[in-house]
Amino acid sequence: MNSIVLVTGGSRGIGAATSKYLAKQDYAVCVNYLLNESEANKVVLDIIKDGGTAIAVQADVSKEDDVIRLFKTIDNQLGQITHLVNNAGILLPQMRVSEMTAERINKILTTNITSYFLCSREAINRMSNGGSIVNVSSAASRLGSAGEYVDYASSKGAIDTLTTGLSLEVANQNIRVNCVRPGFIYTDMHGDGGEANRVERVTPLIPLQRGGTPDEVAAAIAFLLSNEASFITGTFVDIAGGK
Ligand code: NAP
Repeated sequence: MNSIVLVTGGSRGIGAATSKYLAKQDYAVCVNYLLNESEANKVVLDIIKDGGTAIAVQADVSKEDDVIRLFKTIDNQLGQITHLVNNAGILLPQMRVSEMTAERINKILTTNITSYFLCSREAINRMSNGGSIVNVSSAASRLGSAGEYVDYASSKGAIDTLTTGLSLEVANQNIRVNCVRPGFIYTDMHGDGGEANRVERVTPLIPLQRGGTPDEVAAAIAFLLSNEASFITGTFVDIAGGK
């Protein structure tokens, strides 16, 4: 059976590294993005140049109609999906809970949680021969992100719970659901939180004394997705330098 994977938020950062990593392992990859068409196309071109198969599909994965269209495009252009990486996520500028509006909180929750539910639903309904899902959570789910973005950390706490519940719900369908919890990875995301150099600032607090790379996260995602992890489900891998 050919391996066909959707990486949500595959245009940049961890998602882009994961898309390229999986393409090298012979997955046909759907690189989803929200706005950055040129970055998504660059990832696809890199994969095709290396002899792989990939398509870029714009869709806001927090919106149900977009998710349905995204999966229909995969059906038509790549075939029946076998693997899913729920990765798309956002941060908003650092702020205390006492200042947060409902609009901000709901944006974080729908982007970071609803999207994982919707994409999981569409994938599971197609994984009639089994499959594998990896959710990208965050070290923030354990640490709480006080004074920075408790809304974001809470959304990742929900992803941890989704991983546990969904893994048990679909285990008898031979679908595995696992989770990685990165922390302090060099990507654009910290700029969106209002502090582009955040990883440098916190480096002295990280036991391994450095930030992580998107490729280091991609390697763990690829392992959990693969048959090498065939008896592993409902598990969490922390990729945060010991923090
Ligand atoms: P990033 O560099 O900011 O990239 C975010 C990606 O998500 C982009 O591809 C973006 O698309 C896409 N995206 C955002 N909203 C979307 C939506 N509504 N629909 C579809 N795509 C959407 O982020 P990153 O650092 O790689 O983070 C990836 C994941 O890792 C997130 O879930 C994040 O919470 C988690 N994480 C990151 C870190 C870290 O230190 N960086 C730590 C822990 C966890 P466009 O390019 O079109 O905007």
